[in-house]
Amino acid sequence: MQKTRTFCIAGAGVAGLTLALALAKLKAKVIILERNEQIQEFGAGLQLGPNAHRALNSLDLEDDLQKVSFEPDGLDIFSFKQKKPLITLKLGATARKKFGVAYSVIHRADLVQTLYKKAKKSKYIDIYFDVQNFEISNIQENPLVSFKCKDGFEKEIKTHAFIGADGVCSATRTNFINGPQSKYSGYVAWRTLIDMPKLQDVLDLNNTSLMWGAGFHAVAYPLPHRNKVNIAIFTKESMSVGFGIRQAPSLPTSVNADPRLSKILELADEFKHWPLAAVKTSTWHKGAVGLVGDAAHAMLPFQAQGAAMGIEDGVILAPLLINEKTAVISFEKYENKRQERVTKVINTSASNGKIFHMRAPFSAARNATVKMQGSMNHFSRLGWIYDYNPLD
Ligand SMILES: Cc1cc2nc3c(=O)[nH]c(=O)nc-3n(C[C@H](O)[C@H](O)[C@H](O)COP(=O)(O)OP(=O)(O)OC[C@H]3O[C@@H](n4cnc5c(N)ncnc54)[C@H](O)[C@@H]3O)c2cc1C
Repeated sequence: MQKTRTFCIAGAGVAGLTLALALAKLKAKVIILERNEQIQEFGAGLQLGPNAHRALNSLDLEDDLQKVSFEPDGLDIFSFKQKKPLITLKLGATARKKFGVAYSVIHRADLVQTLYKKAKKSKYIDIYFDVQNFEISNIQENPLVSFKCKDGFEKEIKTHAFIGADGVCSATRTNFINGPQSKYSGYVAWRTLIDMPKLQDVLDLNNTSLMWGAGFHAVAYPLPHRNKVNIAIFTKESMSVGFGIRQAPSLPTSVNADPRLSKILELADEFKHWPLAAVKTSTWHKGAVGLVGDAAHAMLPFQAQGAAMGIEDGVILAPLLINEKTAVISFEKYENKRQERVTKVINTSASNGKIFHMRAPFSAARNATVKMQGSMNHFSRLGWIYDYNPLD
């Protein structure tokens, strides 16, 4: 009989916790190292496509997620200044019927808490918080991991593999597998939450809204169990000055001519200025140390698939780590299975940024095409993303 394998994961975010649950389901021992003192409330809304739900459902999370998420009926696409949407793409029950699972929106913290609660109940998973630093030796086989917590607690673990799920600025990527630093993308997200009742006459709060302007765009959707509407406005900035709280996003004054955006700007107390960084590398492992989620492939959020790709990574990597003879073979097979798909999603996201920000006269042609394509076109156009089953 095969001996139980032990894995160490850096990062208790979406990707790290998903991988931990997928490994625990296969009865492997998992140790998670998280640098924060507890699970953090950072981030805001996330859209979870059917592909993400299919992966999460395989970890028996469907009921728990349903309690904290919302399935919008559709996606209203607005062009600047227009009163009515160009088109409403069908989601909700139509998406469920087409893909067999939900298309939902959720607060990132609620997704992470749902994963964390399940992980906490598992006898196979141990989580250490406040981890100040970790070191890995024997990278090629059975990595030896030593770590130290803020209170002085130290431990050394012999593992079958070490996985960095430590996000866009991953220390695993830069310190242990010779991967590159993340790069500023040139885009900034301005994030805020507004009380739902304040926006009920401004947006259809059964739907997600996508608002296109010249050189910027905005996304809004309700998070009903928090009674908030999640808002993200995306602009381009030549040089990022880092994260921070601002009164208002840098937008042209002409934005006030748009009936929805002007109201959103008026109602928001403040915005989080969120420079978007990306990771471009095909180096996802060295020996028995590998990467999942943003650590491997942080991308622009314009296809709303960054977290979904990390979720798919976890569900796909776990059985390979259990069933393959060595961790090296597992990571090689994982890369072969993942890199083409993830690269296609990265490129689609980048190209959406250009389409969403188009200026006249190109925006007129874009609007005409979107109208002509109709309210169901996205199901076939994006079927390769949503129909994907990571368990196949
Ligand atoms: C504006 C915006 C909108 C988005 N919208 C969507 C969307 O609609 N749908 C979607 O699917 N995705 C979306 N994304 C992307 C999504 O948020 C990310 O892809 C996802 O959260 C990444 O998860 P992760 O677990 O890989 O990394 P993270 O969430 O960054 O988690 C990394 C974890 O590792 C920990 N950590 C970091 N360094 C260390 C260390 N040295 N030691 C120990 N622990 C460490 C961190 O504290 C954290 O807990 C959006 C992103 C942005 C910015």
